Amino acid sequence: MNLKAAPVRLSTTSADFEAEFKARLHWSAEADAAIEQVVADILADVQRRGDEAVLDYTRRFDRLEVDGMPALELTAAELRAAFESLPAQQRDALETAARRVRTYHEAQKKASGESWSYRDADGTLLGQKVTPLDRVGIYVPGGKAAYPSSVLMNAVPAHVAGVGEIIMVVPTPGGEKNPLVLAAAHVAGVTRAFTIGGAQAVAALAYGTRTIPKVDKITGPGNAYVASAKKRVFGTVGIDMIAGPSEILVLADGSTPPDWVAMDLFSQAEHDELAQSILLCPDAAYIERVQQEIDRLLPSMPRAEIIAASLNGRGALIQTRSMEEACEISNRIAPEHLEVSSSEPHRWEPLLRHAGAIFLGAFTSESLGDYCAGPNHVLPTSGTARFSSPLGVYDFQKRSSLIEVSEEGAQALGHVASVLAHGEGLQAHARAAEMRLRSPKP
Ligand code: NAD
Repeated sequence: MNLKAAPVRLSTTSADFEAEFKARLHWSAEADAAIEQVVADILADVQRRGDEAVLDYTRRFDRLEVDGMPALELTAAELRAAFESLPAQQRDALETAARRVRTYHEAQKKASGESWSYRDADGTLLGQKVTPLDRVGIYVPGGKAAYPSSVLMNAVPAHVAGVGEIIMVVPTPGGEKNPLVLAAAHVAGVTRAFTIGGAQAVAALAYGTRTIPKVDKITGPGNAYVASAKKRVFGTVGIDMIAGPSEILVLADGSTPPDWVAMDLFSQAEHDELAQSILLCPDAAYIERVQQEIDRLLPSMPRAEIIAASLNGRGALIQTRSMEEACEISNRIAPEHLEVSSSEPHRWEPLLRHAGAIFLGAFTSESLGDYCAGPNHVLPTSGTARFSSPLGVYDFQKRSSLIEVSEEGAQALGHVASVLAHGEGLQAHARAAEMRLRSPKP
């Protein structure tokens, strides 16, 4: 096999940098019309025929021959048995990862997920009441690979938030159940689990069927069918985000061993051909060494073809004038994962504003964050880190405003409300406020 991975080489000093940057690094998340149509039809069919449609599509797309919906439910006993069947090393790894993810999200809940209130001098109480969602659906992808870590990253924050019921769906093509996925559901506190996937699973969760309970929100990553279905059911249920292909951006000052950086670039490239891996570095000689390590390490990678396709198609090694300029470009890209591979990461971190997760220092490989560091690995992609955040406890909570106006407060506020309501021509609003005044308007 003579495979080459040669990410495009760009330099910010070259005249055509802007044009190249836009051409190579821009990602258009335009929907595929054929997929949109297929998904629209599946959603309508599940809404109409419920369980029967879910069964038909599961037979067709996941080659799963079962005689009825009950056979698609994974019982709590089955989840526990899967956990107990694992080698001790895997059980320990799952439990350690779950514990760290739980600790992180408990801290997150404490910092920003609690109810609060205050009183005005006149006794009026104002505040915010935080409540968990009643029932959520978590989509765990399973078409081409199994993702036990995605079970933890979705179910644990939901559990920490206090969600009443967590319904997991995971396709099992050909009926092959991954024991680590089932065990992770046991460890993470999933309430019920079904072996269904794709648009039909999203539809079943959004609309409810005889067997699948209707949920309030659906979270979790998936392929283009899943993403399109989530987009379409938004409004009927909440969704977390629309995830695009995975991305890593490494900001390097040249102090990290270049083979570490090459492997970190591979770690996203191996996800899929459309994944994006970018290196930003002011040192041309170091960029050359990273390319040499890419050449040396690629043949040893089992997923070399996917890595090469991803790096050749969407990868880039960019030489910048300085680390400051590298930070600016990183902000423009707003990557999902941002590694600050530098001997002084805290010097650069304050300059970085847009990224799903920021990994500081040479020892913080992104893969540690993917599995077990603690923060969530479901992150905004395709530049959406400019305006959105990692999946978190807050995605499984909602807020209600609390208002208790004292008699005294009603006097002051009543006049203000009355003036504004008259201004809007809304008489009932005005009179409701005025009736509570001690000397009501005639
Ligand atoms: P998946 O579970 O998302 O999709 C499988 C389902 O797709 C099948 O059950 C089937 O119903 C449906 N499907 C497949 N072909 C179809 C067709 N022709 N018509 C209608 N429906 C069809 O699993 P996957 O395909 O392996 O994709 C998983 C995706 O999730 C990958 O892109 C992966 O990179 C991504 N992922 C992201 C994260 C993250 O945290 N961002 C984590 C894990 C996985």
